[in-house]
Amino acid sequence: RGNTTMDPLVAAVDQGTSSTRFLVFNARTAELISHHQVEINQSFPKEGWVEEDPKEIMQSVYECMERTCEKLGQLNIDLSNIKAVGVTNQRETTLVWDKETGEPLYNAIVWLDLRTQSTVERLINKAPGRNKNHLKHKTGLPISTYFSAVKLRWLLDNVEEVQQAVLSQRAMFGTVDSWIIWCLTGGRNGGVHCTDVSNASRTMLFNIHTMDWDPELCRYFDIPMEILPKVRTSSEIYGWMKSSSLAGVPISGCLGDQSAALVGQMCFKDGQAKNTYGTGCFLLRNTGTKPVMSDHGLLTTVAYKMGKDQPPCYALEGSVAIAGAVVRWLKDNMGIVQSTSEIEKLAAAAGSSYGCYFVPAFSGLYAPYWEPSARGIICGLTQFTNRNHLAFAALEAVCFQTREILDAMKQDSGIPLKQLQVDGGMTSNRLLMQLQADILCIPVVCPTMSETTALGAAMAAGAAEGVEVWSLSPDNIPNVTSETYHPQINTDESEFRFARWKKAVQKAMNWET
Ligand code: ADP
Repeated sequence: RGNTTMDPLVAAVDQGTSSTRFLVFNARTAELISHHQVEINQSFPKEGWVEEDPKEIMQSVYECMERTCEKLGQLNIDLSNIKAVGVTNQRETTLVWDKETGEPLYNAIVWLDLRTQSTVERLINKAPGRNKNHLKHKTGLPISTYFSAVKLRWLLDNVEEVQQAVLSQRAMFGTVDSWIIWCLTGGRNGGVHCTDVSNASRTMLFNIHTMDWDPELCRYFDIPMEILPKVRTSSEIYGWMKSSSLAGVPISGCLGDQSAALVGQMCFKDGQAKNTYGTGCFLLRNTGTKPVMSDHGLLTTVAYKMGKDQPPCYALEGSVAIAGAVVRWLKDNMGIVQSTSEIEKLAAAAGSSYGCYFVPAFSGLYAPYWEPSARGIICGLTQFTNRNHLAFAALEAVCFQTREILDAMKQDSGIPLKQLQVDGGMTSNRLLMQLQADILCIPVVCPTMSETTALGAAMAAGAAEGVEVWSLSPDNIPNVTSETYHPQINTDESEFRFARWKKAVQKAMNWET
């Protein structure tokens, strides 16, 4: 590898909903040097419930880390070249653990989980005018099952171990970033209990203007403030790695996965946007140092704050709950495919959905509808419909949902996007990317290095004060190669299909009435 081994390296833990990865980048060239990935099990103990095992999450982090270090050894790269570690994570997923035993007190409640639907309905009913946006002026978010506060409320109401731990002052709450950083910095032996502003802004307990936990919001959800982690910036040294091959390396970057992808796609300027296709699908548009409130069902979120002396940057976000998850559902629940990548072959064989529309509202509908009672629907079936058409309709659903977000962004900002920068696990599906360009009627640009989320976390870690091996100045943006998909169908055709989709969405929202 010649010179590259002399360059400083920066690593990132990327803990997603479906898998954990550990990746090592060259801090001069942003080249991915080595990585390892492990799948994560999800459990569905009741209808609408989604949980993950916090210990399995940590085991996967350590396994990915050790295997990547072994691979670096095989490349004759000395681990001392790794100058910092960043953490990026599935957001909103909620954990409570015991700080004395280090044991989780319940499974992690995953962001998609719907168990809090009745709590949410109760909260909305008691809000003035039954307004789900009652707390939006402080949080940027509607009251929804999605965010951590209601999940934490459920844990406090329903899990005796959590109640006991709160009473005896042993409880720690955190999103996945907090859990990982606490464990990596020593856990019950001096672990650091912190989170960053991007993750904190997804809890509904964080005031995005004051940039701190908000006592009034905590009272609203009746959350004891002493169990909350300390809020830090996205780029600073939080602590040092303990007991692993990387012991002593600073952990100095922390970003929710969607913020990390925004950074990894180099969207630092007001107006720049990216869309990430993973389990769900998340379009974020950088709005600079001002929070912009949406009138069209988008969220206002803290994108990042790159160090103590830097201002916070905000984003408008369109969140879609089910994207890659619909492909996993076709595989795991319906057995239509053996692997998720096989879906492309089926969809290609169909070539069109032939009038079949699939609204995968498995967890209600997120943006721009925020309707927790919506449920999945497949309509337009005929004798002719087969599994290939269903596969096509599932992929098209991901594209239509993105189109709805883009339309909302355009209405909020008045400025349409000229092209869409994309990333995430699903972007390896070329048919999906072409379909997306067709349905948006704009080019879709996909970077060749698909690990942009991890790259963003590594950049934040490398740029932290006291590490400074990575400069985040806009003049220092590494050359990234990408592939562009241009629209191939005419706008009329695209509009026709989108109008049909919208009809199907109405049925998914009101299917019971
Ligand atoms: P996350 O960060 O949410 O864990 P990833 O970015 O790792 O997600 O992407 C994994 C998701 O992408 C899974 O839900 C999977 O079903 C989907 N996926 C992966 N490869 C393909 C493919 N070739 N076609 C369609 N979907 C895919």
